[in-house]
Amino acid sequence: MAPEMIPSNCPYCGDELGRRMHEGVERLYCEGCERFIWRNPVPVSAVIVYRETDEVLLIKRGIEPGKGKWSLPAGFLEVEESARDAAARELEEETNLEIDTQNLDYVHDMNIERFTNQRLLANIYSAHYSSVEGDLEPGSDAEDAGFYRLEELRSSEQELRTNFVPALRRLEEIDLDVLSINS
Ligand SMILES: [Zn+2]
Repeated sequence: MAPEMIPSNCPYCGDELGRRMHEGVERLYCEGCERFIWRNPVPVSAVIVYRETDEVLLIKRGIEPGKGKWSLPAGFLEVEESARDAAARELEEETNLEIDTQNLDYVHDMNIERFTNQRLLANIYSAHYSSVEGDLEPGSDAEDAGFYRLEELRSSEQELRTNFVPALRRLEEIDLDVLSINS
C-alpha cells in the first residue's frame, strides 16, 4: 500500500508548508498565509449484504485503485448526498441490486487508508439478502459480483481488499452471526 501523500506546499499560495502544534496535534501550517492547512478524511459508504451464515456479497473491482481485488460494494458520496443514500446507490451501481434505504442497518464508521493518497471515513451498512430486489450482476465498475464465504477468500488474502476486513470482523462482533472471520 502506498504511503499517504501529505502535501508539501500550500494549496493557496504555494509556499512550502511547515508544522505547528495546535490543540495537541502537529498540523501543517503555512507561514505565508498564516493559516493551518487542514487534512480531513473523505467520506465513503459501503454495504455488507449477507445471507446464510457466513456468505457476503463482494464485487471484483474493475477499475483502479485495487483493480482485480475483491471488495464490498462501496464508493464516494455525491456532493449533496447522505451516506445512507450513497450506500444504496453504490450497491445498485455495482451489483444491480436495489434496496430501500430504510432496510440498511448502520454497522459502524471506520477510518481507513485508501490504496493511494487519501484517508477515508467509511460508513458501513449491512442488509440481509432478503431485503434487496433485482438480479445480481456486476455493474459498471465491477468485473464480477457474487456471494462468497469469507473463509475461502482469506485463503488468498491478497485478493481481498484488506481495508474492509475490519468492517467484516466488526459485523461479527455485533453478533449478526453472519461471518466467521477471525484474523
Ligand atoms: Zn499559503
